[in-house]
Amino acid sequence: MSRPFLQNIDQTIKKPYLKNFDHAIFILHDQLNLDSWPDWVKKEKPLLIFMESGDKGREVPHHKKKAVYVLSSMRHFALECAEKGFDVLYHSTAGHFDDGLKEILSQFEGQLTFMTPSEWDSRERLRKVAGEFGDKVEEIPNSFFLADPEEWKEKIEPGYRMEYFYREMRRKTGYLMNGDEPEGGEWNYDEQNRESLPKNHPVPEIKRFEPDEITKEVIAMVNDYFPDSFGSSENFGYAVTRDQALELLDQFISERLDQFGPYEDALKTGNNTLFHSQLSIYMNNGLLTPTEICEKAVESYRKGNARLNSVEGLVRQIIGWREYIRIYYEAMMPDVRNANHFGFTEKLPKMYWTGETKMKCMEQSLKPVFDEAYSHHIQRLMILSNFSNLTETDPRELERWFLTAYADAYEWVELPNVLGMSTFADGGVLASKPYVSSGNYINKMSDYCKNCEYSVTKKTGEKACPFNYLYWNFVDKQRETFNDSGRVNFMVNMFDNKKSDEQKKEIRESTEIFLSSLERG
Ligand SMILES: Cc1cc2nc3c(=O)[nH]c(=O)nc-3n(C[C@H](O)[C@H](O)[C@H](O)COP(=O)(O)OP(=O)(O)OC[C@H]3O[C@@H](n4cnc5c(N)ncnc54)[C@H](O)[C@@H]3O)c2cc1C
Ligand code: SF4
Repeated sequence: MSRPFLQNIDQTIKKPYLKNFDHAIFILHDQLNLDSWPDWVKKEKPLLIFMESGDKGREVPHHKKKAVYVLSSMRHFALECAEKGFDVLYHSTAGHFDDGLKEILSQFEGQLTFMTPSEWDSRERLRKVAGEFGDKVEEIPNSFFLADPEEWKEKIEPGYRMEYFYREMRRKTGYLMNGDEPEGGEWNYDEQNRESLPKNHPVPEIKRFEPDEITKEVIAMVNDYFPDSFGSSENFGYAVTRDQALELLDQFISERLDQFGPYEDALKTGNNTLFHSQLSIYMNNGLLTPTEICEKAVESYRKGNARLNSVEGLVRQIIGWREYIRIYYEAMMPDVRNANHFGFTEKLPKMYWTGETKMKCMEQSLKPVFDEAYSHHIQRLMILSNFSNLTETDPRELERWFLTAYADAYEWVELPNVLGMSTFADGGVLASKPYVSSGNYINKMSDYCKNCEYSVTKKTGEKACPFNYLYWNFVDKQRETFNDSGRVNFMVNMFDNKKSDEQKKEIRESTEIFLSSLERG
C-alpha cells in the first residue's frame, strides 16, 4: 500500500525484503552523491537506505522551501539510484533517525554502514544505535569535504586565522598555483573585491525549474504537515537533481563568475543574488561537489573567461572558508552552542519573523529570506547579524533563526558563521573583531538608504538611521572587546575623544528610545 505523500516513490520503488541483503548503507539527506562515497559502494551495490524523519523535520520550523528542497532532492536521488540498478529502501518514520534505523535493524540481519553525519545531533543518535547493535553497524568517515578535521582541529584557537589554513589548502589542491607560488603573486585579491554596483548595471537572471510531480507531492506534504513553518512553498524554483544543479553551475561560470569578485560585497534593492553563485544549497547536500565547482572556475580563468580576483575569491570561499568553518565546528562542538561573549539576553526583534520594518536595508535583506530562503553573505553578515548584535540580541536566538530560515542552513556551517563569525559570541576564536558597522558602510555598499524612511546622514534623533547611534552605543559599551582586539580600538578613541559630551548623551538617549520600543519575540 502506498504511503500518503510518498506515492511517486512507492509506485516506482518496491519495498525490498530486508532479509535478502547482507550489506546496506544509510544515506542521509545531505550525502546525495555516490561519487563522494567510497568506490566500493558503486562496485558492490549494497542496499541503499534513505529516510524521512518526522522528528528531524520538527527540530526547528524550517522554511517550507528548504523542507521541499531537502526532501525532493533526496527522493529524486533515491529514484535515480533505483534506476541505476541499486536496491533501495525509502523509509519514513515519525521518530528520529535512530528510531527509524532501529525499525530497520529489527528486520535486517546483515551489516549496516553509515557515514559520519556532518551535524552533531544526528551523529550522536547514529552512534547510539551503533553502540546498541555492536558489529552489525559500522561508521565510516565523512568524505564529502576536502580537509580532514583530525589534521586541523588542534589549530582552532584565538589567533589562528582562516588565511593560514587557506594557503595550505591552495598548496594541497594546487588550485591557482604555479609550483609553490600563488597565481599572480598574491594569495588574496580581496582588495579588488569591494565595489558597489553602478546604477543600471545589468545582472543576469538565474535559471529556475518548474516543480515536477515528485516536487509537487513534497510541496503538498510540507504544506499539510508543517503549515505554520517559516516562509512559503509557493513559486518553488530550485534545482532538485544533480543534472539541474550542474546546469546552474555552468550558468554561473559562464554568466556571473567574472563579475563575482568586484561585486561580492555589493547590495542592491530588489536583487538578492547579484553575481553570487547561489550554489551553497547544492554543495551542502552533495548534488554538487566543492571540487568540481573550483575546477570549473579555475578552468574559466585559464581560458581567459574570468578575472583572477573573481576566481581566487570564489576558490577562497570554498576551499578556505567553507572547509575552515567545518573544522571549527568539529573543534568547538558542543560547547560553542552556549557561546555568548557579550552576555546578551534579548529576544530576536520581531521583524525577523514578520519581515515588517521601516528600515529599508532590513526589509530588503529579510524579503529574499521569506521568498527564497536565501540572501547573500553581506546581507547575512553586515545587515541581519549586525543589527541583531547592535540591538543586544541573544546570539543563540539569531542562530536558531538562521537555521530555520535558510535553504542552505545545516548546523555545521550555519552555527560557526553565526556564533563565530558574525556575532563574535565565541569571544574571538573565529574572527578577530566583531562585524558591526554604522549606516555609513551600508550606504557605501548599497542603494538602500536613498529610499529609507530614516536618514543615514543624521546621527541621532527620531529620523536618524538606527545603525548610526546603535553602533556608537555598542562601541562604547563593548569597549573592552574592541580594545582587546587591537585592530579596531581607534573606534573607542574616536568615541571618547571626537564626540562631545552632548553627542554622547544623544547617542545613549536615541539608543534607549529605539531599544525600548523595538518589538521582540
Ligand atoms: C550569519 C551567517 C550565516 C550563514 N549561514 C550559512 C549557512 O547556513 N549555510 C551556508 O552554506 N553558508 C552560510 N553562511 C556563509 C555564506 O553566507 C553562504 O555560504 C553564502 O552566502 C551562500 O550563498 P552563495 O552560494 O551565493 O555564496 P557565494 O558568495 O557564491 O560563495 C561561494 C561559496 O562559498 C562558500 N562560502 C562562502 N562563505 C562561506 C562561509 N562564511 N562559510 C561557509 N561557506 C562559505 C559557500 O559554499 C558558497 O556557496 C553564513 C554566513 C553568515 C554571515
Ligand atoms: S538609512 Fe539606515 S536603516 Fe535606512 S537603509 Fe540606510 S542603513 Fe538601513
